[in-house]
Amino acid sequence: MIAYLEPLKLLIYDERAISGTASSGFGGFCDCGGMMSQKTWHQNDDLKILISECENCWKIEATVFKGSDVIRRDEVRSYKRNEIRDFLSAILSQTELEAVIDKWSQKDYNYAAYSRAKKKLEEMGLDIERIVSEIIF
Ligand SMILES: [Zn+2]
Repeated sequence: MIAYLEPLKLLIYDERAISGTASSGFGGFCDCGGMMSQKTWHQNDDLKILISECENCWKIEATVFKGSDVIRRDEVRSYKRNEIRDFLSAILSQTELEAVIDKWSQKDYNYAAYSRAKKKLEEMGLDIERIVSEIIF
């Protein structure tokens, strides 16, 4: 899965969260013929990954560089603030997601399920508190 969490400027690549540096300027051409503008740059070992967005069709793309060579381009599933819950539901089980939402809503929550959710996200390099603070339920 290649995903991009808009509010956190986080790229999820090879199941790892990679933080980005904001950028701007020309980001290549989209398949639709539109111009793409740079959003963020991410460093993954020896790869540099540019996230850019088409100004015409709003498609978000990852361009992966090794040195100055483009080795691949991939379409990216982007999650805005009101979609972060969808991102979590793609990663967590139903029980884990419910535990996260219950804790966030200050209700009684399933502690074991919450711990599992926290661990799963931590293994990807994601901080559960930080993600939940960005969610609009
Ligand atoms: Zn486009």
